[in-house]
Amino acid sequence: MSFSALDFRAVHLPPSVGQLRQEVRAFLAAERAAGTVLGRPDSWLTGWDPEFSRRLAQRGWVGMTLPRAYGGGGRSTLERHVVLEELLAAGAPVSAHWVADRQAGPTILRHGTEAQRNRFLPRIAAGTCFFSIGMSEKESGSDLASVRTRAERTADGWRLTGTKMWTGGAHVNDHAIVLARTEDAADRHAGLSQFLVDLRDPRVHVEPIRLLSGEHTFNSCRLDGVELADDALLGRPGEGWQQVTGELALERGGPERFLSTLPLLTALVAEVRRAGGGGPEQEARVGRLTARLASLRQLSLGVAAASAAGRPADVQAALVKDLGTRFEGDLVNEVREILPTAARSDATPGSFPELLATAILHAPGYTLRGGTNEILRGIITRGLELSR
Ligand SMILES: Cc1cc2nc3c(=O)[nH]c(=O)nc-3n(C[C@H](O)[C@H](O)[C@H](O)COP(=O)(O)OP(=O)(O)OC[C@H]3O[C@@H](n4cnc5c(N)ncnc54)[C@H](O)[C@@H]3O)c2cc1C
Repeated sequence: MSFSALDFRAVHLPPSVGQLRQEVRAFLAAERAAGTVLGRPDSWLTGWDPEFSRRLAQRGWVGMTLPRAYGGGGRSTLERHVVLEELLAAGAPVSAHWVADRQAGPTILRHGTEAQRNRFLPRIAAGTCFFSIGMSEKESGSDLASVRTRAERTADGWRLTGTKMWTGGAHVNDHAIVLARTEDAADRHAGLSQFLVDLRDPRVHVEPIRLLSGEHTFNSCRLDGVELADDALLGRPGEGWQQVTGELALERGGPERFLSTLPLLTALVAEVRRAGGGGPEQEARVGRLTARLASLRQLSLGVAAASAAGRPADVQAALVKDLGTRFEGDLVNEVREILPTAARSDATPGSFPELLATAILHAPGYTLRGGTNEILRGIITRGLELSR
């Protein structure tokens, strides 16, 4: 049996990346000193700070891989990967630009018209245009091809009707890429299309869905006959499934799929040091977590390197997300046992009890968002079958 679907190659980062990493660390140290970086878990989901995003963009660390012709940095996937690692490890507030940088920008670059690229990409790279993901619906999460949101042809464009669920940031972002049915087809994967939707349109009704912590990060999003011009269509009509699958690949393989709770481990180590140092059992448990982290990091770098080289990486990305998101949850449980502490949401922001409470209350989402682990294992199994 050949395992080419799990083709992970050793990655040697170019020397230029070391310099970049130091620059990001220096920037983060200054931001930490200014009180804008609190080392929070899950900061890519809930760390909303548009000004921080703009400062990052001024350094060239948003839209890094977009071509310079569209305002991007023209830099490599591995360079971007290094910047993401540092931002996530620091628990920096990156959620404002996260989706625009990770998937909306590359999707518009790949499928958009020249006018759409010129309209959106420079603002994405400047950290001034933020995007949401308009995929899931009430009965259409894992079974995404069953979406019931419809876009009907009008004289001069499209009319969009339906309700999207779990739409992260729809209350604060500018646009969403919405998946909708444009044609009934015997093959459910045909007849779908993607649209660029202005979230400030008066016919877009956004209602909060609160996390267990009470935080408002995602929403239901009722599209009540939203009138769209022709140029809101992204890519080719009827090819939304292929496009959305490509977008999901961008969504799954990155370091946010195993680093969401790393700031909690860092806070634990600091807390144990403050208390005079840990015993051998505590040290061994932290060591085991760190070893798992090191392997996940190599696997995730393998995904980045494969994408950079144009090799398929969907199955590898699914594997990293399955292993990585389980690690995120395991880390929280280990930390609770290594240093039993009363988790408190009302404790000082950034303090150990508050960070612990955040990580615990966010934990149910780690293995769900971006496609559940059960679905990912199906993708891995099919990938292995095809490799036989
Ligand atoms: C924190 C968070 C943020 C999110 N942000 C967004 C967002 O911004 N935009 C967006 O569009 N969506 C978002 N989502 C939605 C997310 O993509 C869906 O929750 C996910 O795809 C699962 O869909 P579902 O919730 O409908 O569960 P279901 O699909 O109903 O699944 C329920 C359970 O059944 C299992 N299951 C379903 N089908 C199968 C199968 N074929 N084989 C085995 N098991 C199966 C699942 O694994 C799961 O355990 C977010 C979700 C979370 C938790």
